[in-house]
Amino acid sequence: MREPDLLLIRFGELALKGGNRAAYEKALRQNLRKALREIADVRIQAIHARILAYPSRRGAQMARRAAEVFGVKSVSPAYTVPADADAIEALSKELLDDALLRDQRPRPLTFRVRVKRADKRFPMSSIELERRIADHVLPGHEGLEVSLKEPQLELGVEIRGKQNYVFVERLAGPGGLPVGTSGRALCLLSGGIDSPVAAYLGMKRGLHMGFITFHSFPYIGESAKRKIQDLARAVCRYQGPAQFFVVPFTEAQEAIRDQTPERYRVVLYRRMMNRIASRIAHRQSYKALLTGENLAQVASQTLKNMDLIGRTAEHLVLRPLVGFDKEEIIAVARRIGTFEISNRPELDCCTLFQPKSPVIFGHPEECAAAEAELAIEDLVERAVEGTVIERVDPFD
Ligand code: ATP
Ligand code: MG
Repeated sequence: MREPDLLLIRFGELALKGGNRAAYEKALRQNLRKALREIADVRIQAIHARILAYPSRRGAQMARRAAEVFGVKSVSPAYTVPADADAIEALSKELLDDALLRDQRPRPLTFRVRVKRADKRFPMSSIELERRIADHVLPGHEGLEVSLKEPQLELGVEIRGKQNYVFVERLAGPGGLPVGTSGRALCLLSGGIDSPVAAYLGMKRGLHMGFITFHSFPYIGESAKRKIQDLARAVCRYQGPAQFFVVPFTEAQEAIRDQTPERYRVVLYRRMMNRIASRIAHRQSYKALLTGENLAQVASQTLKNMDLIGRTAEHLVLRPLVGFDKEEIIAVARRIGTFEISNRPELDCCTLFQPKSPVIFGHPEECAAAEAELAIEDLVERAVEGTVIERVDPFD
């Protein structure tokens, strides 16, 4: 079959009103344009309740790409046809024959034709045209069983007047909201499996992410930093380029090692990370922090410890993974392409000078006493001053 003439892109019917809705649709069109033009030239057009994308070439690849963009409900590679029943019939048959050649699913397949007639000047009703097309395309396909309810295969026709479309494929999109429509958040990104998945889920809810990582050179080498950069780049496939902050964390970690009780080290590292991340978020206009924290996965993730850690953030801290089991997180990581990178063996600064028995249920007074000796403000300010701002681009 030849390349599709256009992609019919459906998006979630949001319960957004007036101006919000227009902004949402505009953001979605922009995000689609950015994602698709990395493949080839494309023209984007808005019609009622649909976005149309006209690829200059590589239409099938563009359809798969469009189906990754947040806010998209589904994508159909489609073919244009004159508003003429004979022509519609002929193209429908050609498309269906081709789709069935490629479809490996066991037969019989349930099937229906569905016509949407937006242009009421067309001389047949939707049902009449559906019957006529079905009568024309079905002969010779014993493996098809007509069923009007949730068919496994659907031939779609949209009659819109000047432009009319026929399609059989429907790629499911990821849903969610267009990236950027919820504002900007700063993701604390480590080399683990969890935080890149958390970033992906934040993007899904319309956040545009920046990334911040804490790096303790020379204890942790350059290759660990590269791994985290690669993770950021991989997850940026779903939003486009981002800021990437590399915070020098050695001095803070050494101070904590030398001046505080061993048991509290990990909690104090994490409290320090939040203070620094909040200051950078404030200066760079990020409105929230986002982490890969979960409940009860590791020692620092009891309610008591998470509470102690969260209190040093001056922003809302989003923790999108809190309802996920590890297996579920791994399944998402595999699907979005971060799992392999996360599995590269590298050291993590949280395990530096790790105590033999870290505190499991940290106590606020003990924690405050532990920090009393630390020159917190100086440590935070020097870390922020030494932070290097890089940029990650998924298309580099
Ligand atoms: P991950 O798989 O993301 O490393 P985790 O389950 O190992 O998470 P922790 O090591 O306790 O859990 O880290 C919890 C969260 O703290 C991470 O998901 C990340 O958001 C943040 N974090 C931890 N270490 C760093 C770091 N070196 N730089 C930036 N953020 C970090
Ligand atoms: Mg970790």
